[in-house]
Amino acid sequence: MPLYLVATPIGNLNDISARALDTLRAVDLIACEDTRHTLKLLNHFGIKNRLVSYHEHNETERSTELLEELKDGRSVAVVTDAGTPGINDPGFRIVELARNAGVDIYPVPGPVAFVSAVVASGLPTDAIFFGGFLPSRGTERRKRLEETGSVPATLVFYESPHRIAKSLADCVEILGDRRACVAREITKLHEEYACGRLVELAARFGSGTKGEIVLVIERESDENTVSGLGNVSLEARIRQLESEGFDPRSALKKAAKEFGMSKPEAYRRLLQSKSEKGGK
Ligand code: SAM
Repeated sequence: MPLYLVATPIGNLNDISARALDTLRAVDLIACEDTRHTLKLLNHFGIKNRLVSYHEHNETERSTELLEELKDGRSVAVVTDAGTPGINDPGFRIVELARNAGVDIYPVPGPVAFVSAVVASGLPTDAIFFGGFLPSRGTERRKRLEETGSVPATLVFYESPHRIAKSLADCVEILGDRRACVAREITKLHEEYACGRLVELAARFGSGTKGEIVLVIERESDENTVSGLGNVSLEARIRQLESEGFDPRSALKKAAKEFGMSKPEAYRRLLQSKSEKGGK
């Protein structure tokens, strides 16, 4: 019997589709990340069904069990706490197993946070690079930004509210002052799209924020600058200023100001970026 990948709301419960409700009613069992969370959703829509937990800690073993259910002729729906299964959420393992076993697999499409964020950001949607969550550790995050910064597409990342300040500062340093949008609490009460340039957003979210966040960033280009800073990195900007005749201290001071950082912070980042490059 088939495996259904059912998208559920990312905030507003009315975003559930009629087909998602029909599927959740009709299947033999629902595999969900958090049974209490999904139970609330089902109760809201008056649906009763069998639930089993399927989360990142039991994904591998539970996938094998779910495959047995499918092979025994039972239909299974996979849902997560919010959005589309498999998008930075459990789902991939069971789909891989089921696909290899020749099981029919049907997505039941619906909300995906990064798609809503990018279409509402005002940044181009002709090509989109979705990078999932930015790494939580600074060194890895900066490396990821360096790797993805020149992908010719609008860049989209998931981020947590307590890391957004550090991530935006890293984006300024590595990507330059591109246009960007911090999409917060999409479809919820405190929904907000903070759009501007990275330097501006880094200052605005300098002490963090609350809620769920998608960060959307303009692609690399020579023309996307109003401030004159463009996509130049902090290190490159300092070198540029030095070649224009600034002494190293003044170059650091001026670049720090342009990047919306204190001088010690700019110095720290410069040393870090040099030592990371040296270590490669
Ligand atoms: N499966 C989900 C999807 O389809 O988008 C993503 C799940 S991932 C574990 C959770 C992350 O998605 C959050 O930390 C946040 O970055 C983003 N997200 C989910 N809901 C959101 C919302 N309503 N507004 C902004 N970002 C959201």
